[in-house]
Amino acid sequence: MARIVVKFGGTSVANVERIRNAARHIKREVEAGNEVAVVVSAMSGKTNELVGWVNEASKFHDAREYDAVVASGEQVTAGLMAIVLSEMGIQSRSFAGWQVPIHTDDSHGAARITDIDPTELDKRMSDGWVPVITGFQGISPHGRVTTLGRGGSDTSAVAVAAAVKADRCDIYTDVDGVYTTDPRIVPKAQRMTKISFEEMLEMASLGAKVLMIRSVEMAMAHKVRLTVRSSFDDPDAPQIAPDGTPGVPGTLVCDEDEIMEQQIVSGVTLAKAEAKITLRKVKDSPGVAAAIFGTLADKGIIVDMIVQNIADDGATTDITFTVPDSEYDKAVKALEDNGGRFEYARLSGSKGGAKVSVVGVGMRSHAGVASSMFKALADKGINIQLITTSEIKTSVLIDEEYAELAVRALHTYYGLDRQDA
Ligand code: ADP
Ligand code: ASP
Ligand code: MG
Repeated sequence: MARIVVKFGGTSVANVERIRNAARHIKREVEAGNEVAVVVSAMSGKTNELVGWVNEASKFHDAREYDAVVASGEQVTAGLMAIVLSEMGIQSRSFAGWQVPIHTDDSHGAARITDIDPTELDKRMSDGWVPVITGFQGISPHGRVTTLGRGGSDTSAVAVAAAVKADRCDIYTDVDGVYTTDPRIVPKAQRMTKISFEEMLEMASLGAKVLMIRSVEMAMAHKVRLTVRSSFDDPDAPQIAPDGTPGVPGTLVCDEDEIMEQQIVSGVTLAKAEAKITLRKVKDSPGVAAAIFGTLADKGIIVDMIVQNIADDGATTDITFTVPDSEYDKAVKALEDNGGRFEYARLSGSKGGAKVSVVGVGMRSHAGVASSMFKALADKGINIQLITTSEIKTSVLIDEEYAELAVRALHTYYGLDRQDA
C-alpha cells in the first residue's frame, strides 16, 4: 500500500467526460489498496476566461479580487470530481484551499505556500476517503483567497504530497511524460524515462511549461517522488514503468545519482514573447545598475537576461536586458520616468524575441557546448542577439520568427531526435 497524491491538469478535466476518465485512474489506485488525495486544475481555458473578465472589469483591479475570481475555476472541477468519484462508490469530498487549509503569503497572483495543515487530509485518507483539493489557490494571513501564479496546481500537488508525506506525486497531463523538447514543436522529441531535479528546474524556468518551476523546487527540497504521465492512457491498462517493470508509466523526476546515463545536452527549451531593452551611455559607477533594476522591481517587472558592456570611454556603458513582451510598455515608461535615479543617452528596444536554451548536467564537465550551439545556429543563418549561461544551460535571444527552426536545429544537432521518427 502506498500513499499517493495525483494531480490532473486543465485538459485532463476539460469536461465531465474527461473528469470521469480521470476518476477511473483514481479508482484503479484506490482498488490497488492505496491511499489517494487528488488535486485538480480548472477546466482548460477557464482560467484564461476568468482573467479576461477581470481585465475587462478594470485594468487597474485589486489583486485580491483578481484572486477571488480566478480561483473559482478550480472549485468547479473539485466539486465535479468529488461527485463523479462518489458515484463510482468512492467516498470523496472537495476541499477549497482555505478549507484544508493551505496557507500562503499575501503576494496575490503569485503567492507562495508557507504551510499546509495535514490533519484533516491525513484523517480522511487514513479513513479511506479520497479528498479532492482545488489546485492553484490558498489563503493569505489576512484570510483572503490567494492564487499561486499560472500553472500553480502542480505546486499545490507537490506541496500536498510533502504535507501528507506521500510516497509519490503523479502529475497527469496531456503528454505522456517530459520530453527532450516540447513535442508540439518537434515531433521527433523523445520522452525521457528519468530527468534530474536540476535539469527539470532549468527546463521549467526556461519555458517547458509541463511542470511549474516552483513545484520542481518543492519536490527537490522535500524529496517528493514526482512523475509526469498522461491522463489519456487507458486507466485499466497494466501499469508498466518505462524500464518494463511494474510501476508508474511516464517520466520520473529524481536525484541526479539515480540516472545512469547522462547526456551532455538533455533538452532544448523555448520561451517566446521576450522584449529587449537597451540603455545607451549609462554612467559606469557603483549604484547605477541597482537604480535601474530597482526602478523596474518597484513596478513588479521581472527582468530576465542582463548584459552590460565594459566602458570603452572609461565613463559610460550600455546595458541590455529582457522583460516579457506584456511588460515592455510599463518597463519603458518606468525607465523614462525614473525621477532622476539614473541617466542615459538613449533608450531603444523591441518586442518579439525568443529565448532558446540547451540544458544538461553534462555541461558541467564538458567544454564547448556554447560554441557548438552558436555554430549550429549560424549554419541556419540565425542571428544571436544576447547570450546567458549557467552551469548547466546556455540561452540565446533570437528573433521570434526563427524560434521553431532554432529549436529543431539544436534538437537534431545534439542527437536528441527519435531515431524511428
Ligand atoms: P496541464 O494543463 O496538464 O498542467 P500544461 O499545458 O501546463 O498541462 O503542460 C503540458 C504541456 O507542456 C504539453 O502539452 C506540452 O505542449 C508542453 N511542454 C513544453 N515543453 C515540454 C517538454 N519538454 N515535455 C513535455 N511537454 C512539454
Ligand atoms: N488553472 C490554473 C492555470 O491555468 C492553474 C493550473 O492549471 O495549474 O494557470
Ligand atoms: Mg500546467
